[in-house]
Amino acid sequence: MTVVAATHSDRAVDLGPAVELVSKEEGHRQPLAPEFVSPHDFSPLEVAYDFGRVRREEIESGPRNIWRYKKLLPVPSDVEKIPNTEPGFTRLVRADRLAKALGVRRLWVKDDTGNPTHSFKDRVVAVALAAAREFGFDTLACPSTGNLANAVAAAAARAGWRSVVLVPSSLERAKILTTAVYDGALVAVDGNYDDVNRLATELSAEHETWAFVNVNVRPYYSEGSKTLAFEVAEQLGWRLPEQIVVPIASGSQLTKVDKGFRELGELGLVDPSRYRVFGAQATGCSPVSTAFREGHDVVQPVRPDTIARSLAIGNPADGPYVLDTVRRTGGAIEDVTDDEVVEGIRLLARTEGIFTETAGGVTVATAKKLVDTGKLDPDAETVLLITGDGLKTLDALGDHVGPKATVPPSVEAVQAALDA
Ligand SMILES: *Cc1c(COP(=O)(O)O)cnc(C)c1O
Repeated sequence: MTVVAATHSDRAVDLGPAVELVSKEEGHRQPLAPEFVSPHDFSPLEVAYDFGRVRREEIESGPRNIWRYKKLLPVPSDVEKIPNTEPGFTRLVRADRLAKALGVRRLWVKDDTGNPTHSFKDRVVAVALAAAREFGFDTLACPSTGNLANAVAAAAARAGWRSVVLVPSSLERAKILTTAVYDGALVAVDGNYDDVNRLATELSAEHETWAFVNVNVRPYYSEGSKTLAFEVAEQLGWRLPEQIVVPIASGSQLTKVDKGFRELGELGLVDPSRYRVFGAQATGCSPVSTAFREGHDVVQPVRPDTIARSLAIGNPADGPYVLDTVRRTGGAIEDVTDDEVVEGIRLLARTEGIFTETAGGVTVATAKKLVDTGKLDPDAETVLLITGDGLKTLDALGDHVGPKATVPPSVEAVQAALDA
C-alpha cells in the first residue's frame, strides 16, 4: 500500500506527537502512513510517539472533550479547531449503591453513554478522522453492526465528509435508522458481519481516498481508546484505579486502556501505581475468555451467538494482546450468559439510574462474577467501563420490564395497583 496524500502531498503530515509506526511483534519501524499491518512481520502496526513534556495544568485548561489530551494522541496540533463531534470527558460516577449490591467497597462507573452518538465509538472515530484528514482522505468508511456505523456517519456529517457504511442487511431497524439519518451512503449487504468485513478490506484496497476507520487507519483509530484511561485517571484526581473491568470485542479498547495508564505513568502525570485489568465477554462470543481459562496464547475463532451484538466479534484481532495485558497485570477474564447480561443491565439501572446497552450489561455481570469467584478484590478501588446506551438495544429487555399494572383513570385503581 502507498501513502495516500493526493491533496496534501505538498506538506508533511502533522500528527502531533506521533512520529512513526511500529510493529507489535518485532518492533519494526516505518514512517506514519495509512497502513495497519507490518510488511516485515505481518503483525499490527501501532503509533510510536515523542511526547516531550506534558503538564497536568495544560490538560486541565483544555476543552472538555478528548482533545484536552491531544498531546498524547496521533492528531494535528490544531485538532480542536476542525469541526468534529467533540466526544469524551464523560462522567465518572461514584457507584455506592451498585458497590453494595456487588459486595465491593469503592466502585466507579465510567458512563460513556453520554457521547454524541451514545457509545464509546465516538472517541475512536474522532481520532481516526483527524488522522485520515492529514493523510488526504475525503471519505470516512467502516463495516459495522451498529455503534461504529452511528459514530462514523455522524462524524462525517459534522466534518462535511462523505461516509460509506456497510452493514449486514439483517441489522435491526433502529440501528439502520440511527445511521441513515445522517444521510451518508449506508449500504446493507446480504450477508453476515464477516462478509461485510471482508468486503471492507477489499474496497479499502480499491478506493485510495476512503479511510476505513477500523481497517487502513486502525493504528490511529485504536489510540482513541486511550482517552478512557486518561479521563478515569484525571477524574480520580490524577491517579490510577487499582482494578478496571473492560468489555472485549476486537480487544483494542482493553489493550489501549492499559497503554493509556502506562503512558500517564511514564510521563509523570500520575504515580505509576500497580493496577489490574479485567476483561468481560458474553458466553455466546467468548473466544478470549476461553483462551484465558485454558491457558492458551492463541485465540480460537468462534461463531457468535449472543444478544451482546456490539461485542460479537468471533475472531478478535487483538485477542492475543488482551491475554498478554490481563496476565501481565494480574487480572482475569470472565464471560456471562445472556440472562446474566439482562440482569446486569437491570442492576445498573436500578442501583445507579444508568441505562446501558448489552455491552454494559456484560461488564456489570462479569464484575459480579469476578467478585463472587474471588478474582476481583472487593477492597480494591474498581472502575467499570460502561460503553454504550441502553436505548440502542431495547429489544434485549424483551418482556423483562414493563408497567406494574394497567388501570382505569381513578385514584383507587392506582392505589390498588401500588398495594398489590
Ligand atoms: C466496539 C465496542 C466495544 C469494544 O470494542 P473493541 O473492539 O474491543 O475495542 C465495547 N463496547 C461497545 C458498546 C462497543 O461498541
